[in-house]
Formats: sequence, C-alpha cells, structure tokens
Amino acid sequence: MADQLSLSTNPFDDDKLHEECGVFGIFGTPDATAHCALGLHALQHRGQEAAGISTFDGESFHSKRVLGHVADNFTSKDVIDSLPGTSAIGHTRYSTTGETVLRNCQPLFAEFASGGFACAHNGNITNAAHLKNSLVQRGSIFQSTSDSEVIIHLIATSRFRTLLDRYLDALRQLEGAYSLVSLTKEGLIGVRDPLGVRPLVLGKLDNAFILCSETCALDIIGATYVRDIDPGELVVITQDGLTSHKPFPEEQPRPCIFERVYFARPDSYMDKMSVYEIRKRIGVELARENPVKVDLVIPVPDSGTPSAIGYAQESGIPFELGIIRNHYVGRTFIEPNDQIRNLGVKLKLNANRWHIAGKSIILVDDSIVRGTTSLKIVNMMREAGATEVHLRIASPPTAHSCFYGVDTPERNKLLAGRMDIEEMRAYINADSLSFLSIDGLYRAVNQPGGRDNKCPAYCDACFTGEYPTFLTDQSSQEKNNNQMDKIASMGPRT
Ligand code: SF4
Repeated sequence: MADQLSLSTNPFDDDKLHEECGVFGIFGTPDATAHCALGLHALQHRGQEAAGISTFDGESFHSKRVLGHVADNFTSKDVIDSLPGTSAIGHTRYSTTGETVLRNCQPLFAEFASGGFACAHNGNITNAAHLKNSLVQRGSIFQSTSDSEVIIHLIATSRFRTLLDRYLDALRQLEGAYSLVSLTKEGLIGVRDPLGVRPLVLGKLDNAFILCSETCALDIIGATYVRDIDPGELVVITQDGLTSHKPFPEEQPRPCIFERVYFARPDSYMDKMSVYEIRKRIGVELARENPVKVDLVIPVPDSGTPSAIGYAQESGIPFELGIIRNHYVGRTFIEPNDQIRNLGVKLKLNANRWHIAGKSIILVDDSIVRGTTSLKIVNMMREAGATEVHLRIASPPTAHSCFYGVDTPERNKLLAGRMDIEEMRAYINADSLSFLSIDGLYRAVNQPGGRDNKCPAYCDACFTGEYPTFLTDQSSQEKNNNQMDKIASMGPRT
C-alpha cells in the first residue's frame, strides 16, 4: 500500500540540520502547474522526502502528492496535464512532526461549506498537540499526524462566517512558526507568522502573482522578485489583484538567522540581502575573531564554501578545494545495508590529497550538530597527510533544539549541548576549534553593533536558548517527563 511506504532519510546526511519544508504558489497563468513544479524543484533543498501540487481549474481542485523528489514525479506531460488550472500551490517536505507517509504529505486539502481549500505549510506549530487534543474532544477526526492539519480543523470549527475570517480565527490560535500558502476557488492566500520566523516572498511573472519560500524559485521561472511578505502580513490574491492585511498585533520580527547560515540557497535573497554575500561576510568575521597561521583554507562542501572564501580573502591564506563532494549520493536511500552505511562520509566526500599532503589547514564548516561527521572529516584530512587541522565553524555552537520547523536532535544529542569547546575539540580530533560569536553572526547579517540582547532582530534560539514564542507542547512534554522521572525515582511501591 503506497500509504504505508515510508522512506528512510539519507543516512549520509544525518549530521546536518534539515529545513522542514518549501512552499510555492502561483495565480493567474495557464502554465500554473509547470511553473509550480519548477519552483518546487528550485526549493528541493528545503525538503527531499515528499512533494505535492494542488491546482484549481475554475470548477474543480486537483491534487497529487508523492513520496520522493520533484524531478522524479512532476516532470512528465501526463502528470502536468492531470493537474489543470490557472492557479496552483505546491510543497516539498522533510518531516519533523509526523511520519513520512503519504497522508502526511502536503498540500493538505479540505472541502468546506464555502468550497475547497488547499494549504501548504513551512514551519512548525508549537501548540499543535494542545490544539489537537481539544479539537478531538470536540469531535474532529484527524487524517494525519502532521501538525499542519490543526489549521484545517480550526477553520472547519470556527464560529465566523466568511472563509477569510475563519482562517484568521484559526491563525490567531497558533503558536510557533508558519509561512502558509493556501489555494481557494477565489485565489491564493499567503501568510507569515507575526515574528516571520520562516521566509515567504512575493514575485510576479507577467500578470501572474507568485508566493514562495525563496527567491531562487522565482529565478527558475523567470519571475521578478517584488518584496518579502512582512512578518504578520496576510495577502489575498484574486482576479482583482493583491490586498494586504495586518491582522495580528505588531511584534518585533524574529526571522530565523540559521536560514542565512545554512538552510537557504546561497543564490537566494533574504530581506533584500544576498545569502551568498552574508555567508562570505560570516567568513570575514570568523577570520577576524579566530585567526590561525596555516597553509590553506579548505571548505567543507557545499555549505561551508562561501564562508571559507570570505575567511581566505580576509586572512590572505590561499583557498583550495581540498574536499571533493560526490553529488550523486545525496538522494534518499531506501533501507541502506550496513556495508554501505559503514562507508559513511566517504561515500559523499573525498580528500583532494594532492593539495592536502604536508600542509597545515583550516577547515570551514557551517555548523556542528552531533559532531560525528566533523570527526570523520578531520580524520580524513589527517589520513590524506595534513600536518595540522584547525576547524572553524561559521555559526555559534548549536546547543539547543529548534521547534520551528527544523529537524534538530534533542539537546543531549547535540555536541554543544553536552560539551564545552575544549571537549568538542578533543572529540573531533582537531588541533583547534573555534565558532563564530553570536555578535559576529549579527554583524555579518548587517547589524554592525552585534546582537541587541534586549531586543534581538532574529530568532537565534538554537544558539542562545532564547525562544521567541511559547512552546506549549514542549512545556507539557517536559512537565510529563519530570513527573515520570519523579515517579520512577520514588521506586517501587510497597
Ligand atoms: Fe532558526 Fe535556530 Fe530559531 Fe530554529 S531555533 S528558527 S533554526 S534560529
């Protein structure tokens, strides 16, 4: 049964944080499905486990959701023809809540009294379990284990009359992060949570409007970038054009700073800043904060490359591609056997021995999660003949889990959650280890004074532990765990 098929995540990528989803919506073009498929292809880095497209042809909604990649499932003429319409929304998914089965894939669809409603979500609702409990008690029957489905049920059970009012009523009950693109028979609705944790941008292609997670999805279809959707902004796009609403009390925006460090594609723009340029500036800051005299600067590909270029330019140390990446293993594997699994990082990365043997090197990587891959890469460099291996990380230590739509291990599995820097250095077998400071990171994203600790301009909770929203489900879980620990520590009753 297709619905029961589950995919295992690529085992060679398991020491990276994973962005959960990418969203794309287009209104007002006969080629809506083809453009949507191309946009999703450009957003594939935001989720490789599943993809889906929903369209509206003026009378009916059409939908296809699959486990797998966009290019493998949405390129044939038959598939494009089976999704007719002049408006479409799409989604790429990497699951953090709910298993990877077809019924959890998006866009989600519901038939309300007012008509069909399809919805694609990037982010994570941090009170979804709490809301779900109360909805289930009131009779809602859930089809999936995805946090996004609560939005559909909140709309269905709202006491308001119009779809827009019901949608707003639902959104006002949510905590956490959401960039949502929805399709109705009238048009598209796009909304970004009041803190703007996840990105959403607006573009135009002739008379068609586009909403998508990153500007690289506009580039692929030749659309022009218009602007970012503001944190807390809701836009409605119909035949009559675009209307903008600000339905939430205004708050200090807190977009995810890690999008700039790692998740977003380097050719995207965020808040009108080039992501590639930010990463180069991160390398400049890193070189200023953590200098070391060596022969070469070497990036850990691909995400460490722009920062390594910035480091090399600032320090004057020659840059070389000392690690070569095999691009053909970065796919989802179904049940890899142990022999393949044991090859680990060597399947994906290989030392460029000619340049490394006899040299002292700096490796530049974007982050350390569990540290397992860092250890293997440092050892690979030593085996290739490096005389010294210094590791520089283009972000502060990732010591806290993310609850906003990024797959992070629990805190006790994060290397920086359980070790200080010297312990980490020893664990990964490096000659020295340094991280970018939080102020250095803020300087790189155009905050010359560093982090404003009273009023930070970004979500940086995975570095600082300061979460910008309530974490209702997490708090209840911790409370339960504490109670269980307490009961366990009381020992057996006599
Ligand atoms: Fe981004 Fe980290 Fe905040 Fe998650 S916790 S939204 S990864 S900055």
